[in-house]
Amino acid sequence: MSLTRILNLIDGQLVEPVSSEWIDNFEPATGTVYSQVPNSNEQDIERAVASATKAARGWGKTPAAERSRLLNRLADLIDRDAAKWAEAESKDNGKTLKLASSVDIPRASANFRFFAGAVLGYGSQSHNGPGSVNYTLRQPHGAVACISPWNLPIYLLTWKIAPALAVGNCVIAKPSELTPMTAFMLAELSIEAGLPPGVLNIVHGLGGQAGNALISHPQVKAVSFTGGTVTGQKIASTVAPQFKKYSLEMGGKNPTLIFADCDYERMLPVVVRSAFANQGQICLCGSRILIEDSIYDRFREDFVRQTKLLKVGDPLEKETDLGAVVSEPHQTKILTAIETARNEGGRVLTGGVAGAVPGRCKDGWFVQPTVIEGLSNHCSTNQNEIFGPVVTLQRFRSTSEAVELANGTRYGLSATIWSSNIDRAVAVAEDVDAGVVWINDWLVRDLRTLFGGMKESGVGREGGMAAFDFWTEPKNVGISFLAPRE
Ligand code: NAD
Repeated sequence: MSLTRILNLIDGQLVEPVSSEWIDNFEPATGTVYSQVPNSNEQDIERAVASATKAARGWGKTPAAERSRLLNRLADLIDRDAAKWAEAESKDNGKTLKLASSVDIPRASANFRFFAGAVLGYGSQSHNGPGSVNYTLRQPHGAVACISPWNLPIYLLTWKIAPALAVGNCVIAKPSELTPMTAFMLAELSIEAGLPPGVLNIVHGLGGQAGNALISHPQVKAVSFTGGTVTGQKIASTVAPQFKKYSLEMGGKNPTLIFADCDYERMLPVVVRSAFANQGQICLCGSRILIEDSIYDRFREDFVRQTKLLKVGDPLEKETDLGAVVSEPHQTKILTAIETARNEGGRVLTGGVAGAVPGRCKDGWFVQPTVIEGLSNHCSTNQNEIFGPVVTLQRFRSTSEAVELANGTRYGLSATIWSSNIDRAVAVAEDVDAGVVWINDWLVRDLRTLFGGMKESGVGREGGMAAFDFWTEPKNVGISFLAPRE
Protein backbone atom coordinates (compact mmCIF):
# COMPACT_ATOMS: atom_id res chain seq x y z
CA MET A 1 0.00 0.00 0.00
CA SER A 2 1.44 3.38 -0.96
CA LEU A 3 1.67 5.92 1.83
CA THR A 4 0.16 9.39 1.67
CA ARG A 5 2.88 11.91 0.97
CA ILE A 6 2.55 15.23 2.72
CA LEU A 7 3.75 18.09 0.52
CA ASN A 8 5.28 21.48 1.17
CA LEU A 9 3.34 24.61 0.32
CA ILE A 10 5.68 27.00 -1.48
CA ASP A 11 4.59 29.94 -3.61
CA GLY A 12 1.00 28.71 -3.69
CA GLN A 13 1.96 25.23 -4.97
CA LEU A 14 2.02 21.87 -3.21
CA VAL A 15 5.51 20.54 -3.93
CA GLU A 16 7.82 17.67 -3.05
CA PRO A 17 11.06 18.42 -1.20
CA VAL A 18 14.02 19.31 -3.43
CA SER A 19 16.03 16.38 -2.01
CA SER A 20 13.21 13.87 -2.69
CA GLU A 21 13.89 12.61 0.84
CA TRP A 22 11.04 11.68 3.17
CA ILE A 23 10.58 11.03 6.87
CA ASP A 24 8.16 8.36 8.10
CA ASN A 25 5.13 9.67 9.94
CA PHE A 26 3.64 7.39 12.60
CA GLU A 27 0.19 6.90 14.06
CA PRO A 28 1.12 6.81 17.77
CA ALA A 29 -1.94 4.76 18.80
CA THR A 30 -0.92 1.85 16.56
CA GLY A 31 2.82 2.41 16.26
CA THR A 32 2.62 2.16 12.47
CA VAL A 33 3.88 4.39 9.67
CA TYR A 34 0.92 5.83 7.76
CA SER A 35 2.32 8.75 5.78
CA GLN A 36 5.54 10.48 4.85
CA VAL A 37 6.80 13.97 5.55
CA PRO A 38 9.17 15.99 3.33
CA ASN A 39 12.70 16.06 4.69
CA SER A 40 13.20 19.63 3.53
CA ASN A 41 16.55 21.39 3.52
CA GLU A 42 18.00 24.86 2.93
CA GLN A 43 17.00 24.78 -0.74
CA ASP A 44 13.30 24.36 0.08
CA ILE A 45 13.63 27.09 2.69
CA GLU A 46 15.38 29.35 0.18
CA ARG A 47 12.45 28.99 -2.24
CA ALA A 48 9.87 29.59 0.46
CA VAL A 49 11.66 32.67 1.81
CA ALA A 50 12.06 34.10 -1.72
CA SER A 51 8.35 33.59 -2.36
CA ALA A 52 7.32 35.10 0.99
CA THR A 53 9.64 38.08 0.52
CA LYS A 54 8.20 38.78 -2.92
CA ALA A 55 4.59 38.36 -1.78
CA ALA A 56 5.13 40.56 1.27
CA ARG A 57 5.27 43.71 -0.89
CA GLY A 58 1.67 43.24 -2.01
CA TRP A 59 0.22 41.57 1.07
CA GLY A 60 1.59 44.26 3.39
CA LYS A 61 -0.30 46.89 1.37
CA THR A 62 -3.50 44.85 1.04
CA PRO A 63 -6.28 46.52 3.05
CA ALA A 64 -6.80 44.95 6.46
CA ALA A 65 -10.42 44.27 5.52
CA GLU A 66 -9.31 42.03 2.66
CA ARG A 67 -6.78 40.17 4.77
CA SER A 68 -9.47 39.77 7.39
CA ARG A 69 -11.90 38.37 4.80
CA LEU A 70 -9.41 35.71 3.74
CA LEU A 71 -8.65 34.68 7.32
CA ASN A 72 -12.37 34.37 8.02
CA ARG A 73 -12.66 32.24 4.91
CA LEU A 74 -9.96 29.90 6.26
CA ALA A 75 -11.88 29.65 9.54
CA ASP A 76 -15.10 28.80 7.67
CA LEU A 77 -13.36 26.09 5.65
CA ILE A 78 -11.89 24.49 8.78
CA ASP A 79 -15.35 24.49 10.38
CA ARG A 80 -16.88 22.98 7.25
CA ASP A 81 -14.53 19.98 7.51
CA ALA A 82 -14.23 19.96 11.33
CA ALA A 83 -14.96 16.24 11.74
CA LYS A 84 -12.32 15.29 9.17
CA TRP A 85 -9.79 17.61 10.82
CA ALA A 86 -10.43 16.16 14.28
CA GLU A 87 -9.92 12.61 13.02
CA ALA A 88 -6.69 13.64 11.29
CA GLU A 89 -5.34 15.38 14.41
CA SER A 90 -6.22 12.42 16.63
CA LYS A 91 -4.58 9.94 14.27
CA ASP A 92 -1.43 12.02 13.81
CA ASN A 93 -0.87 12.90 17.46
CA GLY A 94 -2.45 10.10 19.50
CA LYS A 95 -4.77 12.50 21.34
CA THR A 96 -8.36 11.46 21.89
CA LEU A 97 -10.83 12.28 19.15
CA LYS A 98 -12.96 13.80 21.91
CA LEU A 99 -10.25 16.35 22.73
CA ALA A 100 -9.37 17.08 19.11
CA SER A 101 -13.06 17.71 18.32
CA SER A 102 -13.75 19.85 21.36
CA VAL A 103 -10.49 21.76 21.71
CA ASP A 104 -7.90 21.57 18.93
CA ILE A 105 -10.02 22.07 15.85
CA PRO A 106 -12.51 24.63 17.20
CA ARG A 107 -9.54 26.59 18.48
CA ALA A 108 -7.79 26.50 15.09
CA SER A 109 -10.74 28.18 13.38
CA ALA A 110 -11.25 30.49 16.39
CA ASN A 111 -7.64 31.68 16.02
CA PHE A 112 -8.25 32.76 12.43
CA ARG A 113 -11.61 34.29 13.26
CA PHE A 114 -10.35 36.14 16.33
CA PHE A 115 -7.35 37.76 14.61
CA ALA A 116 -9.42 38.46 11.48
CA GLY A 117 -11.75 40.52 13.67
CA ALA A 118 -9.12 42.01 15.95
CA VAL A 119 -7.02 43.43 13.12
CA LEU A 120 -9.91 45.63 12.07
CA GLY A 121 -9.68 47.36 15.44
CA TYR A 122 -5.89 47.47 15.67
CA GLY A 123 -4.82 51.09 15.92
CA SER A 124 -1.67 52.93 16.78
CA GLN A 125 -0.75 55.90 18.87
CA SER A 126 -0.56 59.55 17.98
CA HIS A 127 0.70 62.42 20.13
CA ASN A 128 -0.40 65.95 19.47
CA GLY A 129 1.79 68.90 20.41
CA PRO A 130 1.39 72.65 19.93
CA GLY A 131 3.46 72.83 16.75
CA SER A 132 3.56 69.22 15.67
CA VAL A 133 1.92 65.83 15.69
CA ASN A 134 3.59 62.44 16.04
CA TYR A 135 1.96 59.26 14.84
CA THR A 136 3.21 55.69 14.95
CA LEU A 137 3.03 53.43 11.97
CA ARG A 138 2.77 49.71 12.69
CA GLN A 139 4.34 48.03 9.67
CA PRO A 140 4.67 44.30 8.97
CA HIS A 141 8.17 42.83 9.05
CA GLY A 142 7.95 41.05 5.69
CA ALA A 143 8.90 37.36 5.60
CA VAL A 144 8.58 35.78 9.06
CA ALA A 145 8.95 32.31 10.60
CA CYS A 146 6.45 30.38 12.73
CA ILE A 147 7.81 27.22 14.38
CA SER A 148 5.46 25.01 16.32
CA PRO A 149 5.52 21.81 18.42
CA TRP A 150 3.59 18.54 18.26
CA ASN A 151 1.39 18.68 21.33
CA LEU A 152 -1.35 20.97 19.97
CA PRO A 153 -0.36 20.86 16.31
CA ILE A 154 -2.89 22.96 14.40
CA TYR A 155 -4.07 24.87 17.49
CA LEU A 156 -0.60 26.36 18.05
CA LEU A 157 0.37 26.71 14.41
CA THR A 158 -2.72 28.80 13.62
CA TRP A 159 -2.20 30.81 16.83
CA LYS A 160 1.04 32.06 15.27
CA ILE A 161 0.11 32.21 11.60
CA ALA A 162 -3.20 34.08 12.01
CA PRO A 163 -1.91 37.29 13.70
CA ALA A 164 1.22 37.33 11.52
CA LEU A 165 -0.86 37.26 8.34
CA ALA A 166 -3.53 39.60 9.71
CA VAL A 167 -1.08 42.50 10.04
CA GLY A 168 0.46 41.90 6.64
CA ASN A 169 3.44 39.56 7.06
CA CYS A 170 4.07 36.62 4.79
CA VAL A 171 4.75 33.44 6.69
CA ILE A 172 7.05 30.47 6.36
CA ALA A 173 5.73 27.93 8.85
CA LYS A 174 7.68 24.87 10.03
CA PRO A 175 5.31 22.51 11.86
CA SER A 176 6.60 19.69 14.03
CA GLU A 177 7.89 16.77 11.98
CA LEU A 178 6.02 14.47 14.39
CA THR A 179 2.57 15.91 13.61
CA PRO A 180 2.53 17.41 10.10
CA MET A 181 -0.87 16.24 8.83
CA THR A 182 -3.21 19.09 9.76
CA ALA A 183 -0.62 21.64 8.61
CA PHE A 184 -0.76 19.91 5.21
CA MET A 185 -4.54 20.15 5.29
CA LEU A 186 -4.21 23.86 6.04
CA ALA A 187 -1.91 24.21 3.03
CA GLU A 188 -4.61 22.69 0.83
CA LEU A 189 -7.28 24.95 2.34
CA SER A 190 -5.21 28.08 1.90
CA ILE A 191 -5.21 27.41 -1.86
CA GLU A 192 -8.97 26.81 -1.79
CA ALA A 193 -9.50 29.97 0.25
CA GLY A 194 -7.64 32.02 -2.38
CA LEU A 195 -4.67 33.22 -0.36
CA PRO A 196 -2.27 34.85 -2.86
CA PRO A 197 0.81 32.70 -3.64
CA GLY A 198 3.67 33.18 -1.19
CA VAL A 199 1.55 34.71 1.58
CA LEU A 200 1.57 31.42 3.49
CA ASN A 201 4.31 28.84 2.93
CA ILE A 202 4.51 25.63 4.95
CA VAL A 203 7.80 23.74 4.83
CA HIS A 204 8.06 20.41 6.61
CA GLY A 205 11.17 18.74 7.97
CA LEU A 206 13.52 18.26 10.88
CA GLY A 207 14.17 21.04 13.36
CA GLY A 208 17.94 20.90 13.07
CA GLN A 209 17.79 21.08 9.27
CA ALA A 210 14.69 22.82 7.86
CA GLY A 211 13.97 24.68 11.13
CA ASN A 212 17.53 25.88 11.55
CA ALA A 213 17.79 26.96 7.89
CA LEU A 214 14.57 28.95 8.33
CA ILE A 215 15.48 30.86 11.46
CA SER A 216 19.02 31.54 10.19
CA HIS A 217 17.91 32.94 6.83
CA PRO A 218 18.86 36.63 6.60
CA GLN A 219 15.58 37.56 4.87
CA VAL A 220 13.50 36.15 7.75
CA LYS A 221 12.86 39.18 9.90
CA ALA A 222 11.04 37.72 12.91
CA VAL A 223 10.72 34.31 14.52
CA SER A 224 7.93 33.02 16.72
CA PHE A 225 8.76 29.69 18.34
CA THR A 226 6.87 27.34 20.62
CA GLY A 227 8.65 24.24 21.84
CA GLY A 228 11.19 23.01 24.37
CA THR A 229 13.50 25.27 26.36
CA VAL A 230 16.69 23.69 24.98
CA THR A 231 15.51 24.33 21.40
CA GLY A 232 14.53 27.87 22.39
CA GLN A 233 18.06 28.46 23.68
CA LYS A 234 19.52 27.29 20.37
CA ILE A 235 17.16 29.51 18.39
CA ALA A 236 17.90 32.55 20.55
CA SER A 237 21.65 31.99 20.13
CA THR A 238 21.18 32.14 16.35
CA VAL A 239 18.63 34.91 15.94
CA ALA A 240 19.68 37.32 18.73
CA PRO A 241 23.08 38.16 17.17
CA GLN A 242 21.25 38.81 13.89
CA PHE A 243 18.99 41.26 15.79
CA LYS A 244 15.82 39.58 14.56
CA LYS A 245 12.68 39.99 16.58
CA TYR A 246 11.88 36.80 18.43
CA SER A 247 9.27 35.38 20.72
CA LEU A 248 9.86 32.11 22.56
CA GLU A 249 7.13 30.04 24.23
CA MET A 250 8.87 27.18 26.00
CA GLY A 251 8.60 24.46 28.63
CA GLY A 252 7.00 24.48 32.05
CA LYS A 253 6.85 22.68 35.38
CA ASN A 254 3.65 24.25 36.54
CA PRO A 255 2.52 24.25 40.17
CA THR A 256 -1.07 23.66 41.26
CA LEU A 257 -1.49 25.17 44.75
CA ILE A 258 -4.38 23.72 46.75
CA PHE A 259 -5.34 25.46 49.97
CA ALA A 260 -7.50 23.75 52.60
CA ASP A 261 -10.25 26.36 52.25
CA CYS A 262 -10.83 25.70 48.54
CA ASP A 263 -14.14 24.52 47.08
CA TYR A 264 -13.01 20.91 47.23
CA GLU A 265 -15.70 19.36 45.04
CA ARG A 266 -15.14 21.92 42.31
CA MET A 267 -11.36 21.62 42.58
CA LEU A 268 -10.90 17.83 42.39
CA PRO A 269 -12.10 17.08 38.82
CA VAL A 270 -10.39 20.17 37.41
CA VAL A 271 -7.06 19.23 39.03
CA VAL A 272 -7.37 15.71 37.58
CA ARG A 273 -7.96 17.26 34.14
CA SER A 274 -5.14 19.77 34.53
CA ALA A 275 -2.79 16.90 35.40
CA PHE A 276 -3.66 14.48 32.61
CA ALA A 277 -5.39 16.28 29.72
CA ASN A 278 -3.79 15.37 26.39
CA GLN A 279 -1.74 12.73 28.29
CA GLY A 280 -0.13 15.55 30.28
CA GLN A 281 1.28 16.94 27.04
CA ILE A 282 -0.01 20.49 27.38
CA CYS A 283 2.59 23.06 28.36
CA LEU A 284 0.07 24.39 30.92
CA CYS A 285 -0.61 21.07 32.66
CA GLY A 286 -0.10 21.20 36.43
CA SER A 287 2.61 18.63 37.02
CA ARG A 288 3.57 19.62 40.58
CA ILE A 289 0.56 19.50 42.90
CA LEU A 290 1.17 21.33 46.19
CA ILE A 291 -1.40 20.61 48.88
CA GLU A 292 -1.93 22.22 52.28
CA ASP A 293 -0.94 19.80 55.03
CA SER A 294 -4.39 19.59 56.69
CA ILE A 295 -6.06 18.18 53.55
CA TYR A 296 -3.09 16.31 52.10
CA ASP A 297 -4.21 12.80 53.06
CA ARG A 298 -7.80 13.34 51.94
CA PHE A 299 -6.66 14.82 48.63
CA ARG A 300 -4.13 12.04 47.98
CA GLU A 301 -6.79 9.37 48.50
CA ASP A 302 -9.40 11.08 46.31
CA PHE A 303 -6.96 12.12 43.60
CA VAL A 304 -5.44 8.65 43.29
CA ARG A 305 -8.93 7.10 43.21
CA GLN A 306 -10.03 9.48 40.43
CA THR A 307 -6.80 8.87 38.50
CA LYS A 308 -7.36 5.10 38.63
CA LEU A 309 -10.76 5.63 37.00
CA LEU A 310 -9.20 7.27 33.93
CA LYS A 311 -9.29 4.98 30.94
CA VAL A 312 -6.22 4.69 28.75
CA GLY A 313 -7.34 3.42 25.38
CA ASP A 314 -7.96 3.79 21.68
CA PRO A 315 -8.10 7.56 21.00
CA LEU A 316 -11.06 7.03 18.69
CA GLU A 317 -13.28 5.54 21.41
CA LYS A 318 -15.66 7.80 23.29
CA GLU A 319 -14.88 6.29 26.71
CA THR A 320 -11.14 6.88 26.37
CA ASP A 321 -9.70 9.55 28.65
CA LEU A 322 -6.01 9.23 27.74
CA GLY A 323 -4.86 8.34 24.24
CA ALA A 324 -1.33 7.57 23.09
CA VAL A 325 1.74 9.70 23.77
CA VAL A 326 3.26 11.18 20.65
CA SER A 327 6.14 8.81 19.85
CA GLU A 328 8.08 5.79 21.01
CA PRO A 329 11.11 7.90 22.09
CA HIS A 330 8.74 10.14 24.06
CA GLN A 331 7.15 7.11 25.75
CA THR A 332 10.65 5.92 26.70
CA LYS A 333 11.53 9.39 28.00
CA ILE A 334 8.45 9.42 30.25
CA LEU A 335 9.03 5.90 31.57
CA THR A 336 12.70 6.72 32.23
CA ALA A 337 11.63 9.82 34.18
CA ILE A 338 9.36 7.61 36.33
CA GLU A 339 12.30 5.26 36.96
CA THR A 340 14.38 8.26 38.00
CA ALA A 341 11.60 9.30 40.40
CA ARG A 342 11.70 5.82 41.98
CA ASN A 343 15.50 6.03 42.31
CA GLU A 344 15.11 9.43 43.95
CA GLY A 345 12.91 7.85 46.61
CA GLY A 346 9.50 8.63 45.12
CA ARG A 347 6.54 6.36 45.90
CA VAL A 348 4.44 5.62 42.85
CA LEU A 349 0.83 5.65 44.10
CA THR A 350 -0.70 4.62 40.80
CA GLY A 351 0.48 4.12 37.21
CA GLY A 352 4.22 4.08 36.64
CA VAL A 353 4.04 1.75 33.66
CA ALA A 354 3.27 1.75 29.95
CA GLY A 355 -0.40 1.33 29.11
CA ALA A 356 -1.50 -1.87 27.39
CA VAL A 357 -4.35 -1.36 24.93
CA PRO A 358 -5.45 -4.55 23.19
CA GLY A 359 -6.67 -4.90 19.61
CA ARG A 360 -5.92 -2.24 17.01
CA CYS A 361 -3.72 -0.32 19.48
CA LYS A 362 -1.67 -3.23 20.86
CA ASP A 363 1.59 -1.78 19.45
CA GLY A 364 0.75 1.83 20.31
CA TRP A 365 2.63 4.06 22.76
CA PHE A 366 0.63 4.54 25.94
CA VAL A 367 1.52 5.49 29.51
CA GLN A 368 -0.71 4.97 32.55
CA PRO A 369 -1.47 8.19 34.44
CA THR A 370 1.05 8.29 37.23
CA VAL A 371 1.01 9.91 40.67
CA ILE A 372 4.18 10.10 42.76
CA GLU A 373 4.77 11.37 46.30
CA GLY A 374 7.61 11.59 48.76
CA LEU A 375 10.03 13.67 46.67
CA SER A 376 11.78 16.92 47.55
CA ASN A 377 11.28 19.95 45.35
CA HIS A 378 14.97 19.87 44.42
CA CYS A 379 15.04 16.44 42.83
CA SER A 380 15.23 15.97 39.09
CA THR A 381 11.60 14.75 38.93
CA ASN A 382 10.34 18.06 40.35
CA GLN A 383 12.80 20.20 38.44
CA ASN A 384 12.65 18.91 34.88
CA GLU A 385 9.72 18.93 32.51
CA ILE A 386 8.49 15.38 31.78
CA PHE A 387 5.64 16.39 29.46
CA GLY A 388 3.65 13.23 30.05
CA PRO A 389 0.91 11.93 32.37
CA VAL A 390 3.09 12.14 35.48
CA VAL A 391 2.46 14.35 38.51
CA THR A 392 3.98 14.66 41.94
CA LEU A 393 2.28 15.53 45.23
CA GLN A 394 4.00 17.71 47.83
CA ARG A 395 2.67 19.16 51.08
CA PHE A 396 3.02 22.70 52.39
CA ARG A 397 2.23 24.16 55.80
CA SER A 398 2.03 27.90 55.12
CA THR A 399 1.32 30.27 52.26
CA SER A 400 4.95 31.34 52.15
CA GLU A 401 6.09 27.72 51.90
CA ALA A 402 3.59 27.13 49.07
CA VAL A 403 4.96 30.10 47.13
CA GLU A 404 8.55 29.02 47.79
CA LEU A 405 7.83 25.54 46.43
CA ALA A 406 5.89 26.97 43.47
CA ASN A 407 8.77 29.26 42.53
CA GLY A 408 11.51 26.71 43.16
CA THR A 409 12.18 25.76 39.55
CA ARG A 410 13.80 27.48 36.59
CA TYR A 411 10.44 27.60 34.79
CA GLY A 412 7.66 30.17 35.03
CA LEU A 413 4.87 29.40 32.59
CA SER A 414 1.61 28.94 34.51
CA ALA A 415 0.26 28.36 38.02
CA THR A 416 -3.16 27.43 39.38
CA ILE A 417 -4.36 28.52 42.81
CA TRP A 418 -7.29 26.91 44.63
CA SER A 419 -8.66 28.89 47.58
CA SER A 420 -11.96 30.43 48.64
CA ASN A 421 -10.02 33.24 50.32
CA ILE A 422 -9.79 35.60 47.39
CA ASP A 423 -7.51 38.02 49.22
CA ARG A 424 -5.00 35.24 49.71
CA ALA A 425 -5.41 33.87 46.18
CA VAL A 426 -4.77 37.30 44.69
CA ALA A 427 -1.71 37.82 46.89
CA VAL A 428 -0.32 34.41 45.88
CA ALA A 429 -1.02 35.21 42.21
CA GLU A 430 1.16 38.30 42.62
CA ASP A 431 3.98 36.31 44.18
CA VAL A 432 4.18 33.27 41.91
CA ASP A 433 6.67 33.25 39.05
CA ALA A 434 4.31 32.56 36.17
CA GLY A 435 3.18 34.38 33.06
CA VAL A 436 -0.31 32.86 33.28
CA VAL A 437 -2.21 32.29 36.56
CA TRP A 438 -5.63 30.79 37.12
CA ILE A 439 -7.56 31.09 40.37
CA ASN A 440 -10.14 28.36 41.01
CA ASP A 441 -10.01 27.02 37.44
CA TRP A 442 -7.61 25.86 34.77
CA LEU A 443 -7.06 26.55 31.07
CA VAL A 444 -9.79 29.12 30.73
CA ARG A 445 -8.51 30.95 27.70
CA ASP A 446 -9.64 34.30 26.39
CA LEU A 447 -7.89 35.09 23.11
CA ARG A 448 -7.71 38.79 24.01
CA THR A 449 -5.29 38.13 26.88
CA LEU A 450 -1.51 38.10 26.91
CA PHE A 451 0.08 34.67 26.87
CA GLY A 452 3.61 33.58 27.67
CA GLY A 453 6.04 32.57 30.35
CA MET A 454 8.77 34.06 32.49
CA LYS A 455 12.20 32.66 33.53
CA GLU A 456 13.13 29.74 31.24
CA SER A 457 9.55 29.33 30.01
CA GLY A 458 9.47 32.25 27.67
CA VAL A 459 10.62 35.49 26.16
CA GLY A 460 7.94 37.95 25.09
CA ARG A 461 4.18 37.64 25.05
CA GLU A 462 1.76 36.63 22.32
CA GLY A 463 -2.01 36.74 22.29
CA GLY A 464 -4.45 39.57 21.71
CA MET A 465 -2.98 42.87 20.59
CA ALA A 466 0.44 41.79 21.92
CA ALA A 467 0.65 39.41 18.97
CA PHE A 468 0.09 42.30 16.58
CA ASP A 469 2.71 44.36 18.41
CA PHE A 470 5.18 41.49 18.00
CA TRP A 471 4.41 41.03 14.32
CA THR A 472 4.81 44.72 13.45
CA GLU A 473 7.64 47.22 13.54
CA PRO A 474 6.64 50.55 15.08
CA LYS A 475 7.84 53.62 13.23
CA ASN A 476 7.25 57.07 14.64
CA VAL A 477 6.56 59.89 12.18
CA GLY A 478 6.72 63.46 13.45
CA ILE A 479 5.18 66.30 11.43
CA SER A 480 5.81 69.93 12.26
CA PHE A 481 3.14 72.35 11.15
CA LEU A 482 4.39 74.85 8.61
CA ALA A 483 2.36 77.67 10.07
CA PRO A 484 1.59 78.11 13.76
CA ARG A 485 -1.99 77.18 14.60
CA GLU A 486 -4.38 79.73 16.08
P1 NAD B 1 10.89 20.95 20.23
O1 NAD B 1 11.60 22.11 20.82
O2 NAD B 1 11.61 19.67 20.10
O3 NAD B 1 10.35 21.28 18.77
C1 NAD B 1 9.50 22.37 18.51
C2 NAD B 1 9.66 22.80 17.06
O4 NAD B 1 10.97 23.33 16.88
C3 NAD B 1 9.52 21.65 16.05
O5 NAD B 1 8.86 22.12 14.91
C4 NAD B 1 10.97 21.32 15.74
O6 NAD B 1 11.15 20.71 14.49
C5 NAD B 1 11.59 22.70 15.77
N1 NAD B 1 13.04 22.72 16.01
C6 NAD B 1 13.79 21.82 16.69
N2 NAD B 1 15.10 22.19 16.65
C7 NAD B 1 15.18 23.34 15.95
C8 NAD B 1 16.24 24.21 15.57
N3 NAD B 1 17.50 23.96 15.93
N4 NAD B 1 15.93 25.31 14.85
C9 NAD B 1 14.66 25.59 14.50
N5 NAD B 1 13.62 24.79 14.81
C10 NAD B 1 13.87 23.69 15.54
O7 NAD B 1 9.56 20.79 21.10
P2 NAD B 1 8.47 19.64 20.99
O8 NAD B 1 9.06 18.40 21.59
O9 NAD B 1 7.91 19.61 19.64
O10 NAD B 1 7.33 20.22 21.96
C11 NAD B 1 7.28 20.01 23.33
C12 NAD B 1 7.76 21.23 24.10
O11 NAD B 1 7.02 22.37 23.72
C13 NAD B 1 7.58 21.10 25.59
O12 NAD B 1 8.73 21.57 26.22
C14 NAD B 1 6.42 22.03 25.89
O13 NAD B 1 6.38 22.57 27.19
C15 NAD B 1 6.63 23.10 24.88
N6 NAD B 1 5.42 23.85 24.64
C16 NAD B 1 5.35 25.12 25.12
C17 NAD B 1 4.19 25.87 24.94
C18 NAD B 1 4.09 27.28 25.44
O14 NAD B 1 3.14 27.96 25.06
N7 NAD B 1 4.99 27.75 26.27
C19 NAD B 1 3.11 25.30 24.26
C20 NAD B 1 3.22 23.99 23.80
C21 NAD B 1 4.39 23.27 23.98
